[in-house]
Amino acid sequence: MARIERVEVLLVDLKPKVLRTDAIQSFISQETPIVRITDADGAVGMGYSYTIGTGGSSVLALLNDHLCPLLIGREAWDIEAIWRALFFHTHATTVGALTSIALAAIDTALWDLKCRKAGQPLWRMAGGAQRSIPLYSTEGGWLHIAPEALVDDALAVKERGFSGTKIKIGRPHVAEDVARLSAVREAVGPAFEIMTDANQGFNLSEAVRRARHYEALDIAWFEEPIHADDVGAHAALTRSTTVPIAVGESLYSISQFKDYLAQGACSIVQVDVGRIGGITPWLKVAHMAEAHNVAVCPHFLMELHVALAAAVPNGRYVEYIPQLDDITLSRMTVRDGRALPSDEPGLGIEWDHAAIAKLATGQRLHKA
Ligand code: MG
Repeated sequence: MARIERVEVLLVDLKPKVLRTDAIQSFISQETPIVRITDADGAVGMGYSYTIGTGGSSVLALLNDHLCPLLIGREAWDIEAIWRALFFHTHATTVGALTSIALAAIDTALWDLKCRKAGQPLWRMAGGAQRSIPLYSTEGGWLHIAPEALVDDALAVKERGFSGTKIKIGRPHVAEDVARLSAVREAVGPAFEIMTDANQGFNLSEAVRRARHYEALDIAWFEEPIHADDVGAHAALTRSTTVPIAVGESLYSISQFKDYLAQGACSIVQVDVGRIGGITPWLKVAHMAEAHNVAVCPHFLMELHVALAAAVPNGRYVEYIPQLDDITLSRMTVRDGRALPSDEPGLGIEWDHAAIAKLATGQRLHKA
C-alpha cells in the first residue's frame, strides 16, 4: 500500500468506426475521460469511462473541481473507503449519470493500480470465475441498416463463431421490426441468438404488443423496452411475455438494480462499469444478480467488461463493439467466438500513451 501522490485527468474524443443509430439517438462520439493515478511507490493505475457525445466537459469539471483533489494523500488500496468518501462529497449530484461516470474513471484507475501492484489480472483479482465468455455482435444491427445488410452481418459473425447478433428495434410500425428480425432469423437458423434493443423507445402497451411478435422469432432478449425509470412497467412486461427482458445501461446505482431484481422486473442485467460508478459497484450488482439467478451481460466497454464478466460466475455474454482501438496497443483476444480476458496485471488494457497525448484535451494535474 502507498499513498496517492499524483492524479492526472484528461479527455479523449473517440469517433465510432461505423454510424450508430437506435430508436432514440445517434451515437456521434465517445468522449473518454481518463484518470491516471500515481502512488508514493511510483506505481501507476489508469482508468476511464465514457459518454456517447454529451456531458464529457461536465464529467471533467466534476473530476477536477470536486473529486480528484480528495484523492491526494489517501491510501490507494482503500478503494471502498475512497468510493464512499467521493460519493458523499458529491451527494447533491447523485444518483446521477455524470457523477457515476466521473466516479467510474477514478474507481477503474484504483483497481488498475491495485491489480498491477499485486501482479494479477483484473479478471482474477475480482473473482476469477471463468476463462472465456461468449461474444455477440452489435455493430451490424443499427436501426438505419437495411435488412439485406443485417442478414449479411449476422451470417458473417455466425461464421466467426459468435453466439448471436443484436438488432436494434423501434421502427415506426411493429411489422417493419418483425420483417427485419424475420429476415435475420431465416438466414441464421434456430441455433443462433438474436438480441433486440429498443433503447427505451416504447411505452408499456406498445412493448407488450411488440413482445408478442418477438416471441415467435425466439428472440434472446428484449433490451430497454421502456424508459428505465419505470420499474413497475418493466415488471408488468416481464410477467406478460416469454421473451427475457434486459436492462442496465441506463441505471446508475446498485439500489436501482435492487429494485429491478427484487420486483422481478428483468431477466438479464446489463450493468455498465462506466455508468454504475466503476468496478466497486459493478461487482455488487453482479453478485446481487447472482443471488436472483440472473445473468450479467454488460453493456459496451468490451475491453474492460471482458475481465469483469470473467470474474463472476453469472457473466453470460460480452458485447463485441470495439471502442479503444485508437488509444490502445492491446486488442481483446477472441478465440472461436469467445472473448478471453488478458492475463497481464491490471485491467488488461495496454494504453498507447503517445496516441493519448496527441488526442487529449483538458489535461489537469493534481498533486500533493
Ligand atoms: Mg442498449
